[in-house]
Amino acid sequence: MNWTVPQVSPLMGDEELVGLAGSVERAWLTEGPMCEQFRGLLAERTGAKHAILAPNGTLALFLGLLALDLPPGSEVLVPSFTFFASASAVVFAGHVPVFVDVDPTTYNVDVTDLERHLTPKVRAIMPVHVYGHAAPMRGVSKFAAAHDLLVIEDAAQGFGVEYFGRHLGTIGDVGIISFFADKTITTGEGAVVLTDDDERARRLRLLRNQGRQHSGTFVHEELGMNFRITDMQAAVGVAQMARADEIIDGRRARYAGFVERLGHIEDLGLLQVEEGSTLVPFRFTLRSERRDELVTALERSGVQTRGFFYPLHLQPPLVRFSRGPLPVAEELSRTGLCLPIHDGVTPEVIDAIGEVIEETLASAPVA
Ligand SMILES: *Cc1c(COP(=O)(O)O)cnc(C)c1O
Repeated sequence: MNWTVPQVSPLMGDEELVGLAGSVERAWLTEGPMCEQFRGLLAERTGAKHAILAPNGTLALFLGLLALDLPPGSEVLVPSFTFFASASAVVFAGHVPVFVDVDPTTYNVDVTDLERHLTPKVRAIMPVHVYGHAAPMRGVSKFAAAHDLLVIEDAAQGFGVEYFGRHLGTIGDVGIISFFADKTITTGEGAVVLTDDDERARRLRLLRNQGRQHSGTFVHEELGMNFRITDMQAAVGVAQMARADEIIDGRRARYAGFVERLGHIEDLGLLQVEEGSTLVPFRFTLRSERRDELVTALERSGVQTRGFFYPLHLQPPLVRFSRGPLPVAEELSRTGLCLPIHDGVTPEVIDAIGEVIEETLASAPVA
């Protein structure tokens, strides 16, 4: 289908093209000067001591988990309401995800649901910052300290978001941010692993580059693989960093436009931003008992919608890790709806979306 308003549309322009052309002109396509520059910009922006590039957010989580050096078969607390990769990375790293429930209005991990999932094998927790604001990191950090757990933050959607003044991904022992095409800034595929710990950073560099600190040597200190990216991606990343604030401001303005247009409509649930967190909207999210009717009506009008995450503890390849129902994650996946928030979402589009929603909710419910 040809959407009038697609779900995703990255903001890019001549600067990205010029950056790409530079890589081709230098004939330096593998990791080189642009990767170096991109890493520097990321460390500066996030305040992390070490910013280590990775091919995508999924592999960044995998690397981050390996760098935690947990005993094989350790259990890791993971919210059930997140993207599949949060848990698949845990499994591929040789560990066991233990799913926990989330808060019904912030959609992030419910700190009060952690205790009952503790076992002697739980060694780490993965707070996930969904939809552009922070998980309750004060509570998570306190819980982790009390139970001697390491913290790996999935801040895939969290570029630009701060929690009590700290950039997401720099609060736990290690954190990751994704640069997939639908994230706040993008390199197509790509990600960064953040840590302040020198030894973990060293380990990450070895893991990502065949067990060597530098390419060009054939003596390998350790087992590693190839998790490098290209200078072409980093060139796009550097250009995206230069327009990051423009992207963030635009998203916030459109979010405010949505809240103004939709906020008063009864029976629509909106995201509650976590206390102490800024918001860099990832989508405009809604909850409604009549979600399916809204999807049909919006898509008929050319607006591509997307549902919420499907609970991980119910996913066919993960259900074997399930330890029982997690009602909030299940409820959110039934009632949640994402609207696009990219720069194609003009005030006219927001108004038209508002009209479709109002009309649908005013009609008699479809049984
Ligand atoms: C996008 C995303 C990932 C995975 O990142 P990729 O770069 O697509 O591999 C992981 N977790 C969350 C919460 C995400 O949104």
